[in-house]
Amino acid sequence: MARTANRPIVGIIGDGQLALMLADALKSSKIDFLCLSSSSESPMALLYPGETTQNSLYFQAQANVFTLENEFHTVAELSELLGEKKDRLFPDTASYAHFADKISQHKLYASLNLPTPEWMEVRDPNLTLIMEKFSFPFIVKAPAGGYDGKGVRVVRNPSEFNIVSDAFGLYEGKSLLIEQMVKIKKELAQGFIRNADGNYTLLPLVETVQVNGICQFVHYPAPVTNKIASEIESILKTLMNNLVGIFNFEFFIDDEDCIFINEGAPRPHNSQHLTIDASAHSQFTLLADYLIQKKDLPHSVPTKTSAMINILGKSSGPGYELTLPKTEPGVSVHSKLYGKQTCTPGRKMGHVNLVDESATHNLTEIATRVFKEYHI
Ligand code: ADP
Repeated sequence: MARTANRPIVGIIGDGQLALMLADALKSSKIDFLCLSSSSESPMALLYPGETTQNSLYFQAQANVFTLENEFHTVAELSELLGEKKDRLFPDTASYAHFADKISQHKLYASLNLPTPEWMEVRDPNLTLIMEKFSFPFIVKAPAGGYDGKGVRVVRNPSEFNIVSDAFGLYEGKSLLIEQMVKIKKELAQGFIRNADGNYTLLPLVETVQVNGICQFVHYPAPVTNKIASEIESILKTLMNNLVGIFNFEFFIDDEDCIFINEGAPRPHNSQHLTIDASAHSQFTLLADYLIQKKDLPHSVPTKTSAMINILGKSSGPGYELTLPKTEPGVSVHSKLYGKQTCTPGRKMGHVNLVDESATHNLTEIATRVFKEYHI
C-alpha cells in the first residue's frame, strides 16, 4: 500500500463488490485505503493485493477511519476488531446497532412511528399466538444473515410454517420475524449519507424490480407521484435525525399507495449503483468524501435518466465472459464485473448501467431486453 503522509487511510471491513466499488472510488480520489478480507481469493485481494490484508491487528493499526460493506457483524465484534478506534467507524456503532438484524430495525421504525408491514418477533413455534395477529399467507424472515431473498419465505399453511421454522433455526432457539404480506404495487429505494455535524446528502429515489426476492433492474427516475416521493423524503429525514453514516432503505407501495419501509442497510446498496455512471457523485465517491470529511457536499444528487441491470450468474463454472446485446444509439452502456472467481446461477456477478442522456428512450424496454439477452 503506497501511503501519502498525513492523509487518512480508510479501513474497509469486507471484501465483496461493495468494498471493491468503494475501493475504485477511493483510488480515483487518491485516498489511501486498506481492506480487511477473509480470503486471498476474494475479488478485493485479487484486484487490490497491495491494499488488502487478512490480519485484523495490522488492519486496525494501519487505518484511521473505518467503514463496512455488510451488516453481518455484531456491534461487539466490531468493537473488538477496532478496539480504541471504534469511535472512528462510519456509520457510528450506535446507528449501526439498529441494523444488525431485522427485528432491531423494526423496533427503530416503531419507535419513530414510521410505517412498516405489521410484524411480530416469534421465539415459540406455537402458531395459535401468530394466528391471533396474522392470517395465511404471511411472510417469515430470518432476522439476520439473509440477503437476496435467501432468508425470506411466503408461508401459506401450518406445514409450510414448520418447514420454514426448521430451516431458519426456530427449534434451535433462533427468533423468526413474521410480517404481514403486503400486496406490493411497486418497490422503491432511497438512502442518505449524514455526518455527526448533521450535514447530509440525499441519494436518488429509484424503482427496483424484484423477482423471487432478488433485484433484477433499477430505474431512475422512479415512476411515482410527487406525494409519494415527498412522503419517502420525510421518512428519510426522520431517520436521518437519528443516524450517522450511509444508509439505504427499501420501500413497498401497495395498491392504495400506502408506503411501508421494508428494510434498511447501513452501507452502500445495490439499488444505487446507477449513480456511478448517471450522476456526478456516485454513492461510493460521496461515501469517500464523507470519510475524509470533505466540506460543501451536495444535499441531493442530480441523476440522468438511467437503469441498472444486475448481471446474475446463468451457469456454473470458473472462467466466464459477459456478452451484452446491442442497445440503441444515444443510450450509453457501462458494464462492471465484480471479479468473482466462480460463476453460479443467481450470483451477483456484475451490473450494467444504461444512461439515456436525452431522456427520450424507453429504458424499461431496453433494460428488460438486456436482462433477457446477456450471456455470462
Ligand atoms: P433480503 O434482505 O434478502 O433482500 P427482503 O426483506 O428485502 O430480503 O425481501 C426480499 C423481497 O421479498 C422483497 O424485495 C419483496 O419483493 C419480498 N418481500 C419481503 N417482505 C415482504 C412483505 N412483508 N410482503 C410482501 N413481500 C415481501
